[in-house]
Amino acid sequence: MIDSTLDPLEERVSADCLTRKLLFRLADGKTIESALILSVDSRTGRERRTVCVSSQVGCNIGCPFCATGQQGFERNLSPDEIVRQVHFFVERFGNTTGLEKGKNRGWLTNVVFMGMGEPLANYENTRQAIAMLNSPKGLGMGIHQITLSTSGLVPQIRQLTEEGLQYQLAVSLHAANDKLRDELVPINRKYPLEHLISACKEYSRKTGRSIFIEYALFDKINDSVNDAESLVKLLAGLKCSINLITGNPTGSSFKPSSREIALVFQKILMASGIRTMLRVSRGADIEAGCGQLRSRWSTSQT
Ligand code: SF4
Repeated sequence: MIDSTLDPLEERVSADCLTRKLLFRLADGKTIESALILSVDSRTGRERRTVCVSSQVGCNIGCPFCATGQQGFERNLSPDEIVRQVHFFVERFGNTTGLEKGKNRGWLTNVVFMGMGEPLANYENTRQAIAMLNSPKGLGMGIHQITLSTSGLVPQIRQLTEEGLQYQLAVSLHAANDKLRDELVPINRKYPLEHLISACKEYSRKTGRSIFIEYALFDKINDSVNDAESLVKLLAGLKCSINLITGNPTGSSFKPSSREIALVFQKILMASGIRTMLRVSRGADIEAGCGQLRSRWSTSQT
């Protein structure tokens, strides 16, 4: 049996204490990141406790604004290695000790596959990990509490659709035309927007679920009025809501958009009838952007 031990190497807590990021060493010496994020649900006012997990060591999608994308791909995580990231936070910060007693059920409200890696490129292990989180013998999490974030692997989205899996799907779009998206999310060269949006529509039709569109706003790159209007046109007919993020980019040519620009962008989307949330960038003071902590740690070891 594969050793799926996670050894915490470094822990960072944001100044507002709402984001906690962990760097773990795996049994083979490789490292991954996970985070616990506390927030309040804007609709219900209830507290949300979300664990963000990694699905791979590194990533081969190569988004230029992402530290993980610049580290390259090393290997897939096993289902156990994915689930253990969640258990670590629940055991350590949950209301009581001992998952086995089932006392921490309900403490964790959400799991998001938005850490290092492209979860749909590790399809089978991700599927098994979700089944484990979902199982009454595990944390018994509802399938709707788990969000799978993808850069847009069209064949795998179609596979999810065929298999009738009801995951909450989030698509990291970041651009509304192929020319720009080819640069920001290079997998777009293989699966352009027309195919991606069509696969999302099919998934939404079959599952009845709305798709989350993730759009990180970068200063003077994808945040113009024209970009917002193109996005409205692109998403016409797709049941979706949009998360705008003024993120934690790492590439030197990427700066987060200002709040004023982000608000204008949001207004245009909302005027078209698309539910649009503007997310406050979390944990910038603790290198909470995907892969940033690991990147610094690796550099310090050389
Ligand atoms: S943003 Fe996501 S898909 Fe893109 S390189 Fe980073 S981890 Fe991979």
